[in-house]
Amino acid sequence: MNKCLEKVYEILFIKKFLNQEWQKVKLIKKKYISDDTLLLTFYYSKNPIYSYILGLDLGKHILVKINNNIISKNKEYWNNNINNEEYIIRKYTPIKLDYNTFDLLIKIYRPTNNFIDGGKMGRHIENLNINDYILVKGPCGRINIENILFNKKINKLILIAGGSGITPIYQVITYIIKKKLNINMTLIYANKTFNDILLLDELLNYSKYLNLIFFLENYNNNLNYNYYNKYKLLKGYITENIIEQDINNLYLLCGPPPMINCVNKFIKLKNNIIIL
Ligand SMILES: Cc1cc2nc3c(=O)[nH]c(=O)nc-3n(C[C@H](O)[C@H](O)[C@H](O)COP(=O)(O)OP(=O)(O)OC[C@H]3O[C@@H](n4cnc5c(N)ncnc54)[C@H](O)[C@@H]3O)c2cc1C
Repeated sequence: MNKCLEKVYEILFIKKFLNQEWQKVKLIKKKYISDDTLLLTFYYSKNPIYSYILGLDLGKHILVKINNNIISKNKEYWNNNINNEEYIIRKYTPIKLDYNTFDLLIKIYRPTNNFIDGGKMGRHIENLNINDYILVKGPCGRINIENILFNKKINKLILIAGGSGITPIYQVITYIIKKKLNINMTLIYANKTFNDILLLDELLNYSKYLNLIFFLENYNNNLNYNYYNKYKLLKGYITENIIEQDINNLYLLCGPPPMINCVNKFIKLKNNIIIL
């Protein structure tokens, strides 16, 4: 098909799925990536004549909503808080977008002494069966990263992620690599343990395009971490000295609020920070 016909086909037969309303998507694949991380593929379509794209710009996320009765209907408390909400709603960033499908990588927080019931959405999602539906809505997020990448002078993109906050950051890295944008990138990614690092293989595959720095809260001196030549591995929490400060650097942050608050204080150039 020539370029012109391709464009006409796109206009006539490819539609955006997301429309700011809650819509059903069907779980069609579910795979454990590790003990507590699931890779899920969802299918969506409104009309078989058309092919759908999700319609999610770079750096934006979707909301996922499920009924709060799948595993917790008879529980008065969840993690010692009153459990009376009808729905659970959380933010997620697909790591892969295709026609009529998208993939979510979801971390499941298991029950611990501090969180006796664990993470609510993760545990609910884990209980979903193939062909079950969830509700999604979007696109959400204020910032169009694509515009910024094309219109702002960026010396270096400093990406800072904690835990599952890597997913929107990964989306940006993938975009820059696929579009062959000439942007220097450093990823600083903090986790509790080495096994908690999400998308590790994918990040290692990107290591020739970006500088990789991992921080581990529980660094085990006795462990022989593999691929050591591809990344820098540091002990503890993210430190101020590791974050390069430059007027033309752009800082993209996503992670748990305590980590983001702390890292935010380290960065002097407040106007150059984007929190996803
Ligand atoms: C823009 C954006 C994009 C995101 N994208 C993704 C994504 O793609 N994938 C993804 O997995 N998450 C993503 N998140 C996080 C997601 O929205 C949820 O916050 C996360 O899935 C936890 O939800 P939950 O209901 O399972 O846990 P909740 O019940 O909301 O638990 C809240 C918090 O309590 C703590 N907690 C609970 N149990 C434990 C435990 N056992 N150990 C330690 N801490 C615990 C954790 O800090 C947890 O985040 C994103 C967040 C944002 C802001």
